[in-house]
Amino acid sequence: MAADTTQFLRFLDVKKSYDQKILVVKGFSLDVAKGEFITLLGPSGSGKTTILMLLAGFESVTGGDIQIDGVPVTRTAPYKRNIGMVFQNYALFPHMTVAENLAYPLKVRSLDRSEITARVKDYLALVELEDYGKRHPGQLSGGQRQRVALARALIFEPSLVLMDEPLGALDKKLREQMQFEITRLHKKLGFTVIYVTHDQTEALTMSDRVAVFNDGVVQQCASPDVLYERPSNAFVADFIGENNLMPAKIAAVRGDSVRVTVAGGQEITAQAADIREVGGKCIISVRPEKMFIKPSDHAYDNEITANFIVRHYVGDFIRYYFELSDGSEITIKVLNDAAAPVFDEGQLAQLIWQTSDCFAFRTM
Ligand code: ADP
Ligand code: MG
Repeated sequence: MAADTTQFLRFLDVKKSYDQKILVVKGFSLDVAKGEFITLLGPSGSGKTTILMLLAGFESVTGGDIQIDGVPVTRTAPYKRNIGMVFQNYALFPHMTVAENLAYPLKVRSLDRSEITARVKDYLALVELEDYGKRHPGQLSGGQRQRVALARALIFEPSLVLMDEPLGALDKKLREQMQFEITRLHKKLGFTVIYVTHDQTEALTMSDRVAVFNDGVVQQCASPDVLYERPSNAFVADFIGENNLMPAKIAAVRGDSVRVTVAGGQEITAQAADIREVGGKCIISVRPEKMFIKPSDHAYDNEITANFIVRHYVGDFIRYYFELSDGSEITIKVLNDAAAPVFDEGQLAQLIWQTSDCFAFRTM
């Protein structure tokens, strides 16, 4: 049976408990297309690694099913699932050379010696380590070791590759370089990736889609731009990027927008993300780069009075801190040019923003 390519990998209501009591994965469903780069993003302990372990076959599901290419795999032995893996602590064999490490998955699969030699050469070139075949892992830098681990995960040409925080041990510059390397190889070779990280910048820059996890539940699964620009609940709004979050009261609901009262009784309009009913409390979000200091008497969708606290020079932008009358803190990023204003401490300022950049969420 030729499976639907948009359903290459399917998680069907997958549940996992380690102690027969608490579910750490609470009904995970996701269809992954062939060649897609999917990232599971969430705080530590939210169940990301557990999902990879279930997919790899190192842990068994408590409920639900996982299918690869139309075939249920929950009863298939790990080595038969033919999945490539790169883990932060998935060490290379220290007593083998780099070339022997790469040859290992091919030997296990009984490939011809000539084919093995040719592929090792190709994959060393692919990760730009042509001259390192004879070295031992101990003679490599952290970044080089992770490139060998990557080549070893890809050399047997698996259609599915799992990566669990593979760049967690590297410094920022090397991490960014490896993010680029991994996405380059993904585009070139076309394998499907399930990537795990708790680093939201990494998730946004590398992925086709990101599933945001909290406490064993997917909060939103969408492309990076949708996650950033249209978060579906307060957790995602807070977890992805920076957001000013203000407590408010719902005054009226009109279709997709809501009128709410914020600090000091000022009324503003927001898009109703997950709010349907009038009354009660909500949380309002506006990103720091979407809020502005009112330049003149122009009318804007929304306006609020705030107390200036401090101005931090960052370089390419200037960050302002304000406080609302209920004590909520607001931060604004302003491009560093001549127009960036200067205030005295405690001075009142008018902050403005568009309704299209402002969301109202249910309180968490
Ligand atoms: P993440 O990778 O998102 O940090 P994990 O999947 O590692 O999260 O863990 C999810 C939850 O399951 C945590 O509460 C963790 O303590 C628990 N857990 C993970 N692995 C095991 C295990 N082998 N035995 C028991 N509990 C575990
Ligand atoms: Mg983990």
